[in-house]
Amino acid sequence: MTHLTLQAVTRRFGAAHAVDSVDLNVPDGKLVCFLGPSGCGKTTLLRMIAGLETPTSGNIHFADRDITRVPANRRDFGMVFQSLALFPHLTVAENVAYPLRLRKTDKAAQGRRVAELLELIQLPHMANRPVTQLSGGQRQRVAIARAIASQPKLLLLDEPLSALDAKLREAMQVEIRLLQQRLGITTIMVTHDQREAMTMADEIVVMEKGRIAQVGKPLDIYRDPVSEFVADFIGLGNILPVTYDGAGGVSLPGGRRIAVAQAARVPESGSDIRLLIRPEDVCVKAASDTAGPNRLTGTVTFIRDVGASLEATIDCAGFTLTAATTPRETPGLALGMPVLAELPPHACKLIAARAAH
Ligand code: ATP
Repeated sequence: MTHLTLQAVTRRFGAAHAVDSVDLNVPDGKLVCFLGPSGCGKTTLLRMIAGLETPTSGNIHFADRDITRVPANRRDFGMVFQSLALFPHLTVAENVAYPLRLRKTDKAAQGRRVAELLELIQLPHMANRPVTQLSGGQRQRVAIARAIASQPKLLLLDEPLSALDAKLREAMQVEIRLLQQRLGITTIMVTHDQREAMTMADEIVVMEKGRIAQVGKPLDIYRDPVSEFVADFIGLGNILPVTYDGAGGVSLPGGRRIAVAQAARVPESGSDIRLLIRPEDVCVKAASDTAGPNRLTGTVTFIRDVGASLEATIDCAGFTLTAATTPRETPGLALGMPVLAELPPHACKLIAARAAH
């Protein structure tokens, strides 16, 4: 059963559409990320689900009930914002207990629940500490414990990790994901960080200018983006303007023809076409290797050592390619070296070009 359903949800501010006719089903128990560049409408969409913003038109249903105009405090959803909004004058335990006090839960039950939650976030020893004396990550956990204290059916997180440094942020991504899976709580998280969305989400909703550009599992979106915008936003990619020849091949900038997979989905005629190939799919071979239809000659112009792998930039006369490789796969790779870059047909995706502005 799908619990949260959005139908043609729109929010205008004056003439501008912050969110434009969004249809979406959020499956039960999943973690869904709203992902997109600044200003694409992620927060406005989340705030409408939370009840903090009213749609200009459209409907929001939760558990078969129309909640479009139900005020936030009557939706019983848990929320964590970027600012966390903890009460600085209260202790850890008092912050976590706050929603239970509001609901007038009896004192003994409050105590039990708070103890359970502090155990869950691994801070039982800090119950009586003022929240102002916690680290960023600890504060983050308290905010989450408070948001789930009254067992909400839906947890809404608006860029909750953006104030943390990179290492702590990654640790918290894992913690939130584990907690969410353990509790089985349906969660929507807003982020503009594609890596965060890729590693945490069951489903990603990619947004562009108030609309949904694509919805899907992280890997499906990465492997099979529907547009240049999505391809560019999710992960690193080589995106080249090409012409489709109608017979399983494309001409690259500079005129060379390569084959694409038989099953390649070709965007409708009339649209500008781009070829997408991910760096890990570009195979770098020695220049002395046998030539082949999808093997392009080039020169290594830049090498970036990113620890476990190497990123090589290859100038192919007319365009450049980024290839991800390892010293084991391509021993002796060096600047200025002539190479063959192989683009396997099955890894070449054709997508429609981004609309011109
Ligand atoms: P960010 O990642 O920067 O937070 P976002 O994707 O969350 O961006 P929103 O905050 O939802 O984007 O904003 C979407 C658009 O709506 C933006 O153009 C923004 O300027 C506009 N907008 C949002 N809130 C208001 C408001 N209260 N009044 C007028 N315009 C608004």
